[in-house]
Amino acid sequence: MKNLLFVISGPSGVGKGTLVRLLTQEDDTLSLSISCTTRAPRIAEREGIDYFFVTKETFRETIAQNGFLEYDEHFGNYYGTPKSFVEEKLKTGSVILEIDVVGALKVKEACKDAVLIMVCPPDLKTLERRLGGRKTESEEQRGERLARVQYELGKQDQYQYVVVNDDLQTAKRALQAIIDKERNA
Ligand code: ADP
Ligand code: 5GP
Repeated sequence: MKNLLFVISGPSGVGKGTLVRLLTQEDDTLSLSISCTTRAPRIAEREGIDYFFVTKETFRETIAQNGFLEYDEHFGNYYGTPKSFVEEKLKTGSVILEIDVVGALKVKEACKDAVLIMVCPPDLKTLERRLGGRKTESEEQRGERLARVQYELGKQDQYQYVVVNDDLQTAKRALQAIIDKERNA
């Protein structure tokens, strides 16, 4: 079985985090890369589990040290994939990056073997409902995230796989099947 880098993207609120949690809980050889961000933690988010929460200064220092596989700015904050964390995890298993489309395409440039998977909502109303139901963003923050949806979904053709997250368990099985197929190819 190969150790691969899987990149999962999709609009905010589509269910990426939920799906990735389910996948990694059941498979010891599959781990989630934890990104660095300069945004504030949401209620219930934990340091080193959901993100490494850092200051803008620390983030800029890491950029200067070439410490990110990729990084980007969203909604006024930086987000980046720590290179050493991913390299370390890849020694013992496969790694999932849950990052936006711009970051995903940068990773594909840097790592040709990376497998890009886009998670799409069944429809926009469902996406809005999920994002609203999560109650973790203000109305303004939700608006910013929804404004990016068409742009993100428009990049689907640059992804190797597209999975629609309608029923959660069905989407989880579809992702698992893709991961198994690629790792055993
Ligand atoms: P993302 O990580 O893509 O921003 P989340 O995983 O936080 O999205 O999911 C957003 C909300 O939608 C959460 O409240 C989650 O429980 C819910 N959710 C995710 N997938 C489904 C699904 N298939 N059906 C119904 N609700 C879902
Ligand atoms: P959120 O604030 O909702 O957690 O994330 C906002 C956006 O940042 C999402 O589209 C998410 O996929 C993206 N993101 C999270 N981590 C990274 C990362 O390490 N790099 C990049 N480029 N985007 C990321």
